[in-house]
Amino acid sequence: MTLLEFSKKFPTEKSCRLHFKSVRDKQGVVCKKCNHTDHYWLQYKEQYQCKQCKFRTTLRSGTIMESSNMPFKKWYIAMMFMSATKKGFSSSEIQRQMKHKRYEPVWAMVHKLRKAMGKREDLYKLNDIVEFDEGHFEVETSKEKRSNLKRGKGSQRQKDVAVMAESTPLENPKTNKKSSHLRYVKMKVLEAKDADEINKTVRENIDEKSIILSDKATSYIDIARYVEAHITEKSTKETTSTTLKWVHIAIANAKRNFLGIYHKIKGKYLQNYLNEFVYKLNRRYFKEGIFDRLSVAMVCNYG
Ligand SMILES: [Zn+2]
Repeated sequence: MTLLEFSKKFPTEKSCRLHFKSVRDKQGVVCKKCNHTDHYWLQYKEQYQCKQCKFRTTLRSGTIMESSNMPFKKWYIAMMFMSATKKGFSSSEIQRQMKHKRYEPVWAMVHKLRKAMGKREDLYKLNDIVEFDEGHFEVETSKEKRSNLKRGKGSQRQKDVAVMAESTPLENPKTNKKSSHLRYVKMKVLEAKDADEINKTVRENIDEKSIILSDKATSYIDIARYVEAHITEKSTKETTSTTLKWVHIAIANAKRNFLGIYHKIKGKYLQNYLNEFVYKLNRRYFKEGIFDRLSVAMVCNYG
């Protein structure tokens, strides 16, 4: 959605509330008390009432906005900024654009949206041919750790990220040249980086009928147990540009994207930044439709 379209469609708090309600009605309201899904809408209260047990649910309750005091309009502005461009915006830039006094609530809102993007992505698994490798992202250590180290400036360290890319092989019949087309990507922060964690990551993110291409890292030893086939190649410059081409392009683009927008990324929140990058990359052909999809993600509560 462009800025112009946004200002036409959502000029007021009420227009945002009405839109939110219409999206929520389509997705369905579940009663927290009895799990019933039929509700009346009490217009004067602006609340849902369960047809079975009469329990009332506010418009925000059970959604991403549940514990937020931010006006609907500000959530919508944040969504607009986060979906409007390929590149994205930092929380401080969004705060400046919406003229909100305090940084913290804007930051919390933006990170909830990033979390919701990740939850949407978790609904899907990668299929067919999947490239698997790791990327190493620079992050800042937390403040407590910094003061322990008695350093004036934040110390940098790296976090390892499992990067998975689903691609379709293409063959040019004229030249017989083989290439591939990128479909979807997943990026998951690794903590332990051992075989157990790699196996879990594969099981959670890749369909069991897939074929995985990777290098010969020792932690990949069991991958073949969870998919149709696991093809390994010794890691060389050649594999980086052929067999594992898309994971490396995705890693390079994510790093460039983060460097261009964010002042610093704390290790603890790296997954949220990756979520936004991946969510938009996987929806790159939707263009302006990303806003609508994001509004659907918003009516769910991901804790
Ligand atoms: Zn109920």
